[in-house]
Amino acid sequence: MPPRSLSPSGFKPGLHPRNPHRHGYDFALLVRASPELAPFVRPSPRGSPSIDFADPAAVTALNRALLQAHHGLREWSLPPGYLCPAVPGRVDYVHHVADLLAADRGGELPHGPGVRALDIGTGANCIYPIVGTHAYGWRFVATEVDPAALAAARAIVARHPHLARGVECRLQRTPAHIFRDVIAPGERFHVSFCNPPFHGSPAEAAAGTRRKRRNLGASSRSETVLNFGGQPAELWCPGGEVGFLRRMIAESTADPASCGWFTSLVSKAENLERLRPLLARAKAVEVRVIGMAQGQKQSRILAWTFLPPEARAIRA
Ligand code: SAH
Repeated sequence: MPPRSLSPSGFKPGLHPRNPHRHGYDFALLVRASPELAPFVRPSPRGSPSIDFADPAAVTALNRALLQAHHGLREWSLPPGYLCPAVPGRVDYVHHVADLLAADRGGELPHGPGVRALDIGTGANCIYPIVGTHAYGWRFVATEVDPAALAAARAIVARHPHLARGVECRLQRTPAHIFRDVIAPGERFHVSFCNPPFHGSPAEAAAGTRRKRRNLGASSRSETVLNFGGQPAELWCPGGEVGFLRRMIAESTADPASCGWFTSLVSKAENLERLRPLLARAKAVEVRVIGMAQGQKQSRILAWTFLPPEARAIRA
């Protein structure tokens, strides 16, 4: 029997077996870890504990509690208006990447600071380094184009000794560049992560945010709520998701040994068909698409490599 405080609204069928959120949110545990969550907890229409997912303050408090209860943080905050991640889906990406790396070493999950990961566009929330460091002890280099977001990520890192030991944040000064200028010549990573900006224009990003609010049934028109899905600049780039990945694929060919596996989320399945020919032309030796499901929401990781298994396998 799940604990009584477990919320069915948090239950996400299809999450990775090692994802601590796959059985939903244990609100009693979360409130113990972060008492600031308590005022936001109220019964869902079905009577189990939940929060108002259209209220940014409530979602921020939930995220803080999740990160404190399950991902080794003492505290966590975001500058107003920055992207507040849905934690369970982000955690899934990290565990699926761990499986991808394990597959190259006979199924043994790679743990420890010998594993070097790159996070392109870590955001103000720094979510992948937080999760990857706590779950597996990996080291991260986290890049970001937005100086305010990077400062927020650095502040999270600085407040936690285990992150300060393992996470380095670097500013990307040129938004059109992905790996260029942020990794040193000859620097090597076992894997790169990315949750790319997926809209093609600020207008599209704003429409996406309005759609998300409507789906959540948000009634407030306040600026905080409008910006809740993230700063428009976080959410768009020229050419949208395909444009971003096109640049990433092109740059990955310039230094194909810099990452054992290059990976990115791809929000729309149809975008894969536009990206596959680019990877074939780039002569990627292996391409994998790893499906993920969070309840109704389908997502996927695109992964490619230019190295044979013996060259990319982690020996740590
Ligand atoms: N990783 C976070 C944030 C994703 S939003 C999460 O999953 O929640 C995408 C982020 O990429 C934004 O913060 C945006 O500022 C950043 N970004 C956009 N172009 C970039 C580039 N060329 N290099 C690094 N970061 C970039």
